Amino acid sequence: MQSWFMNGRYMLTRDGHYLVASSYRALLQNGGKLECHDLIWGKLLQPKHRFILWLVAQKKLLTKDRMLGMGIVCDSANCVLCDKDELEDHTHLFVQCEWARAVWRDIEQWMGEQIPQQDTMGTLKYIKRRHWCKMKREVIAAIHGSLIYFTWQARNWKIFRGISVHTDRVIQQIQSVLRERIGMFIGSKEAGKCIGFLEKLCY
Ligand SMILES: [Zn+2]
Repeated sequence: MQSWFMNGRYMLTRDGHYLVASSYRALLQNGGKLECHDLIWGKLLQPKHRFILWLVAQKKLLTKDRMLGMGIVCDSANCVLCDKDELEDHTHLFVQCEWARAVWRDIEQWMGEQIPQQDTMGTLKYIKRRHWCKMKREVIAAIHGSLIYFTWQARNWKIFRGISVHTDRVIQQIQSVLRERIGMFIGSKEAGKCIGFLEKLCY
């Protein structure tokens, strides 16, 4: 930030005025635009799902590996969703954990599409490269975002409330959320381009 400071003033704007918003944007990666940001902030995602997906895409959730790195003491650093003595980090929790994989297998069957297992940013890039219409890409990104959100919620419920969330419940929640969101756009011209896919998800 030293280079922004000239003649006793922060010179971020052209006219030399300092704006909190402009320094915030400058601090964010790529001027605030993360790769695949259009999928992360897509209209098919619930706002709270977008936010968690945005954090996970950057591996910024406070997972136990990060807590340890910050010197925060926790009872156990293991994943609480499986009993495999695996360190809880982003890759384990959202990609490798058998709990999350079980959800994803059923969701793939429901979607009729196979998505290679990889970190969230890799998954989003994969979705973006597909020759699907825009609506289908947004729907599949929203499904992935819901999985991320409910996985994080299940992890928190186990740690803070002692409640084990069954994978079947999460699958139903993802389907219910997506059906509701798709219902808001089903009559649009955009939705018409992949109506067969959308109807398969909704009925
Ligand atoms: Zn696990």
